[in-house]
Amino acid sequence: MGFSISAISSNINFSLPLYFDASAQFFSPLGSLSVLGQTLLHRIASGDLYLTPPKRHTPPFTKTHTEPELAVLVIGESMRAGGIGPQTIDRGPWSRALIQRVEQGLGAWAPTTCAGSYATHLSVPLMLTGLPPARFEESLTAPSVLGVLKSAGFLTAWISNQDLRVFQESGHDLYWSGGTVDSSFDENVAPVLQAFSAPLQTRNSNIQPRASVIHLAGSHFKYQDRYPATEFAPEPNNLSAESETTLRYERSEEYTAKVLLQLANILDQTPYPAFLLYSSDHGENLPGDKNGLVAHLGGRASIHDGTTITAFFWNKAFLETGRTQTLKHLLTAPLISHTDIAPAFLTLAGVKPSTSELRPAAAPQILAPVEVGQRSAPHFCSDLKP
Ligand SMILES: [Zn+2]
Repeated sequence: MGFSISAISSNINFSLPLYFDASAQFFSPLGSLSVLGQTLLHRIASGDLYLTPPKRHTPPFTKTHTEPELAVLVIGESMRAGGIGPQTIDRGPWSRALIQRVEQGLGAWAPTTCAGSYATHLSVPLMLTGLPPARFEESLTAPSVLGVLKSAGFLTAWISNQDLRVFQESGHDLYWSGGTVDSSFDENVAPVLQAFSAPLQTRNSNIQPRASVIHLAGSHFKYQDRYPATEFAPEPNNLSAESETTLRYERSEEYTAKVLLQLANILDQTPYPAFLLYSSDHGENLPGDKNGLVAHLGGRASIHDGTTITAFFWNKAFLETGRTQTLKHLLTAPLISHTDIAPAFLTLAGVKPSTSELRPAAAPQILAPVEVGQRSAPHFCSDLKP
């Protein structure tokens, strides 16, 4: 039996629904509420609860990039590590198609990714600005990777099927919003990217490079609301509550695979180099974990909501740029982190990060308690427990 404080949170402009399982053995009402309180205070202190967000710094305009290409960063939601990949080949047709795409050399699965936080409004700014959890305050005013590409000469599109307050940045060429996680299915972002990238479908010497950030609703609770029911067979009767939640969660993951496949197909429509980097904001706890935690943002971050998935997809022209070689250290590391996402994205886009070689950040941290009762502060991902 759980309780929701989403009603309270919506009154104070705090949009994440939080669920704690009060019947679980390890449930700590005090721990959970203390994390919530700290998170709210943090948002107020950092200005994140204001209607007008803090203004972001604009990177110096460099216009180093003029060749046509397409760079897309897709931010997922609540996808666990391994949520799509070789181990899900029997789950559905869309996972299978993505796996086949990678087998054909048109993509790569990254190692398990340490999330910047187990809360969307903390991990997304960290991921988009490339800052480690210890420098979270800077992520509220630092430019995103899309802002960096804008200054490098790209046309840029901000495409969100999520709460827009998670990250705000002015100055881009196109904005599209599906409303909130509940008002639009993720598939609706595909035609937007299709239209934005359409000029890249014909060979023309005068086409600007284009880049987009796409924020998905992904596997945000409640899982069965994230996909059209008609996409799957009717749910079996007499499922236990645990099996029902697991089935619905896995269907939301499989539906994300469908959306990623649609976006990857858009990459294939251009003769110019095009790639997509997918990384979810954090993972999720499921009833089968038996750890007393429900969904995410509970009394502590676990290995299930504190780690997540990263994957790359590209077209044939992108393979010919040789830039996929820059990923070799990331792809063979035991663990990467959200701190690695921005440098990887900018390197693949041909805009060099400050370091000359792409290597995973050492000893990654997560901005979350890893034990009930701890403060929401940076902790080592190696300390995450099931
Ligand atoms: Zn999230």
